[in-house]
Amino acid sequence: MPDRSSEILNLAQELIEVPSTSDNLQACQMVLEIAKNALTGTNIEEFSSINSNGQSVPSLLFYNTDERPDRFKLLLNAHLDVVAADDSKLFIPMVRGDKLYGRGAQDMKAAAAALICVFNDVAHGLDSTIGLSLTVDEEVGGYNGALHQVENGVKAEVVIAGEPTDLEIGNQHKGLIGITLSAKTAGGHTAYDGDSSNALLQIINVQLQAARKYPGPDGTWRTSCTPTITQTSNRANNVVPSDATGRLSIRYIPQDNADEIIDNISSIDPRIAISRSRGSPSHYTNPGHPGIQKLAESIQLVTGSPSGLRALPHSSDVVHWAIKSDAAVDFGPEGAGMHTTKEYVSLNSLEKYSTIIRNYLLSLS
Ligand SMILES: [Zn+2]
Repeated sequence: MPDRSSEILNLAQELIEVPSTSDNLQACQMVLEIAKNALTGTNIEEFSSINSNGQSVPSLLFYNTDERPDRFKLLLNAHLDVVAADDSKLFIPMVRGDKLYGRGAQDMKAAAAALICVFNDVAHGLDSTIGLSLTVDEEVGGYNGALHQVENGVKAEVVIAGEPTDLEIGNQHKGLIGITLSAKTAGGHTAYDGDSSNALLQIINVQLQAARKYPGPDGTWRTSCTPTITQTSNRANNVVPSDATGRLSIRYIPQDNADEIIDNISSIDPRIAISRSRGSPSHYTNPGHPGIQKLAESIQLVTGSPSGLRALPHSSDVVHWAIKSDAAVDFGPEGAGMHTTKEYVSLNSLEKYSTIIRNYLLSLS
């Protein structure tokens, strides 16, 4: 392997060794320090944002200019947090053949290492304004990382987040809405009082109707609704429940409207109170955007085949970047098993990935 590839592999392994789960803020600080050390001589802006537990969540922004531009031509983004692992062996990176195994190998420390190395090599010689944002809270929503930077004015013409996409362009994401349903009735005696006084039955009915309207995911691109929790404080089998709550997890496509979906669910039974928890928006970037077309050309040049588009059923930091930027996509190397014990990234693909990103950066000037 050429030197650049081993440099990326070494950095990826160094990052994987740190157990930077989002709740381990000390480890998160450590991975950011590793990135800082790898990016000497670059302007850095340090951010911190207080999370819902009252803790300060750090994130970094590097750029190839003296001052942060009003809008970057290109912003690269990686999250360096990983999901929790019961087995600490997952934090020992292992190379077998073409595969680098370890927690975060695919999602997304190897891609992060590639973005850091390419930024280091190429960004400084370019006229175009290039940024690199590194965060540590994507796995818990990205509110204190990517969203915090967006709220502090960080934006770009094009944003590329190195999330795993098997070298395809992830140009749309489903949004997430969490709903709590609450019912209150007079309750009663199971021998005398009917279904209209049964709060639990009201909740079960709304959950069932909502799931019929928006069935659970089946791999097709549509909005889905999954009932997840149903509860009542009633503990007696001869009592008609007078209170009940239920939860729904809704994953909606950008082609549907979130408020309309909520209206549809509210109209099932007007007696039920509905509250909505903080979710994440859906996202669609037009693949015809010149910056995305240029990325597609860079991919085809290296892989030899037209780049595919990917519609992703989960969220990513891209949904936050897309609020203020023109175009935002996920683009990462091939791999498999993210969030499992078998997680790996393909090293051959990682090399192609860094070449594509490098060519793309060079094409911007
Ligand atoms: Zn990820």
